[in-house]
Amino acid sequence: MSKQAEKGPAAENPEELLDLKITHPKDWAAGIPAVTVAMVDILKETGLARGMEGLFHMNKKSGFDCSGCAWPDPDDDRSPIAEYCENGAKALAEEATTKKLTGDFFAENSVADLAKLNDYEIGKKGRIAQPVYLAKGATHYTPVSWDFAFKKIADELNALASPDEAAFYTSGRTSNEASFTYQLFVREFGTNNMPDCSNMCHESTGVGLADTIGIGKGTVTLNDFYDTDVIIIMGQNPGTNHPRMLSALEKAKQKGSKIIAVNPLHEAGLMGFKNPQTVKGILGIKTQLADLYLQVKINGDMALLKAMEKLLYEAERENSGSVFDHEFIKKNTTGYVAFLDSLNQYKIDDLAKAAGLTVNEIEQAVDLIKNKSRIIICWAMGITQHKNGVDTVKEIVNLAMLKGAIGKPGAGLCPVRGHSNVQGNRTMMIWDKPKPKQLDKLREVFGFEPPRGHGYDVVESIKAMDEDKLKVFFAMGGNFLSATPDTLFTAQAMRKLKLSVHVSTKLNRSHLVHGEEALILPTLSRSDKDVVNGEEQFISCENSMGVVQMSKGMLKPVSEHLMNENQIICNLAKATLGNRAFVDWDKYSQSYDAVRDAIAKVIPGCEDYNQKVRLPGGFYLPNAAREGKFITEKNGAVVPFNIAPLPKHELAADEYHMATIRSHDQFNTTIYGLDDRYRGIHNERRVILMNENDMKNAGFRAEEKVDLFNYDDGVERVARLFVVVPYNIPEGNTATYYPEANVLVPINSVAEQSNTPTSKLVNIKIRKHVG
Ligand code: SF4
Repeated sequence: MSKQAEKGPAAENPEELLDLKITHPKDWAAGIPAVTVAMVDILKETGLARGMEGLFHMNKKSGFDCSGCAWPDPDDDRSPIAEYCENGAKALAEEATTKKLTGDFFAENSVADLAKLNDYEIGKKGRIAQPVYLAKGATHYTPVSWDFAFKKIADELNALASPDEAAFYTSGRTSNEASFTYQLFVREFGTNNMPDCSNMCHESTGVGLADTIGIGKGTVTLNDFYDTDVIIIMGQNPGTNHPRMLSALEKAKQKGSKIIAVNPLHEAGLMGFKNPQTVKGILGIKTQLADLYLQVKINGDMALLKAMEKLLYEAERENSGSVFDHEFIKKNTTGYVAFLDSLNQYKIDDLAKAAGLTVNEIEQAVDLIKNKSRIIICWAMGITQHKNGVDTVKEIVNLAMLKGAIGKPGAGLCPVRGHSNVQGNRTMMIWDKPKPKQLDKLREVFGFEPPRGHGYDVVESIKAMDEDKLKVFFAMGGNFLSATPDTLFTAQAMRKLKLSVHVSTKLNRSHLVHGEEALILPTLSRSDKDVVNGEEQFISCENSMGVVQMSKGMLKPVSEHLMNENQIICNLAKATLGNRAFVDWDKYSQSYDAVRDAIAKVIPGCEDYNQKVRLPGGFYLPNAAREGKFITEKNGAVVPFNIAPLPKHELAADEYHMATIRSHDQFNTTIYGLDDRYRGIHNERRVILMNENDMKNAGFRAEEKVDLFNYDDGVERVARLFVVVPYNIPEGNTATYYPEANVLVPINSVAEQSNTPTSKLVNIKIRKHVG
């Protein structure tokens, strides 16, 4: 057994805890408290006038796209007052803060001192106001000019033995325009090493859906929610992660839809909603959301889906043609008979047990959908971040196909993306595995030969850093270290780099665990006004439902030294490629319109991009599956039923399954505050939620201090000093917040086929804290 060297970020091993307060978890979300919390954050960070101006323009047709999640804006009936949620307001407070970090700040604070702070404290420091550089062996970042920064990166890139010794990461905030020029630069430079945040979240969805329905995206629009019979929400917590979805669910309920929630935790936002934009909500009257709450075990979803399919099959046999959509199945699918046969191997009692449910609960779910075909199935990371994540996505497709619930109004598949333009990044070819057809198009339009081999995804990039195969790491946004698994391993790998570069708005942990040399390049945020050559620019983004629309910031940037992402890329391309460039980088650095014209030539569905994106509300990208047409690579026009085994879960007597989750005061790796008020946890993030029977059996009392361990691959991983919180969670299951518990997620524990880290299922042991 090897022990992981504790050379990670200093804050991974705190010596003391805060003053935890536990209250009763809520059974409703939003309401007046959401408005109050949002306003307090705005006032504190931006001041009243700046904050209100930003909020007024957020998610409006002529305004800017919230940099939070990818939940879509209504096509037509947008609120004239507030088209945002509590977390959207918090996201604005973060990025529009008037606090800024100038040269003085970096002179006063060494990297080592900053690294002692926790992620919340680091994030609250303010916006980075100028490019800064950390020289080899230096203790402090120092201000540098943009020219110095571009030359430094270009020199390092050009000195590499191969372009494949560099990797270029993308976070979901990056606009379509910047994503397009970024991948163009990276491919002209000569590599497909383009890890992105999709690799860590919905990659299992992309793989599972592309293999089955022929497109790695969902098939529903927001309007389908208002015209459906049943909405099934699996492994998703909309109250915290996509709060405006609650308005859509409320409207769906008003129109008679039923909701089935499937989650190991009773999440407030799945149970009830107090809409602060209605009189009813202001009066504190909630809309009941879930009609049936299925509290599965962690990763019990596959067993639940199979159990539902099995019971539906029995009902169909009793009353042929009344349950399954034979017309849909005959026309669009293959493998139906073999699939039904495969269900015969399971006993319903065993499936229910594996799901962590009673047979009766599953029968209730089946009763709700048995005679309906307008069914929407939503899911998020609770489904994808498992070894069998791709297979579970395909099982969701199986269920939808049996019911003919794809490709018609009020029905379909709805993977809900977590970061505002993560789907658009991929549409714009941010991908380590580009298709030959896409690369052919780049060659045809730009005249250079793009690299053809697959590049590194996120996990592969970390391993390549560790093996000294990567020398330069360039991150377009994000907080790579805090987002990735196996924190100490990743930190050690990142320290082996020759140069690490981050294009960022705010300081984060990844700036403090760096290569031999490091640069931070400050960029504009979504709400910032973007002016190039005296002309105001706008960008565009794609939401979770494939709508592309413009986004135009209006707030005065905190510093004159910020540069938009597109210009950073174009300037870097010029500095790196010089005379050998085929692409006219000057042209693209001057105007997003020129970039959009190039997008129109390369990306299918983006023809006339400049015109279409200027339409109020934008335009829908083509989605054949949404129209009931399936164009699959392997199977032509038919969708295969997928036959997957049940996942096997073996736990030793003293082991538990752990899922990493967000608190309500958090968006991805950005920590807005220290409370998780829906779950009743306040003023502490180093908590582990445990079932009370498990606590009793292990001899833990409430608020006991414990250390957490994982032993995959014969390595001891430790997360020290957590507090036990008794919680309504299935026996054998626990939950912790990320990034604090990422240290326990083994680098080799990934989803089959998609390589997504299994952050929702890690085997852990829990021991009393040794202080
Ligand atoms: S639902 Fe998502 S996109 Fe909409 S305002 Fe909230 S965080 Fe922003």
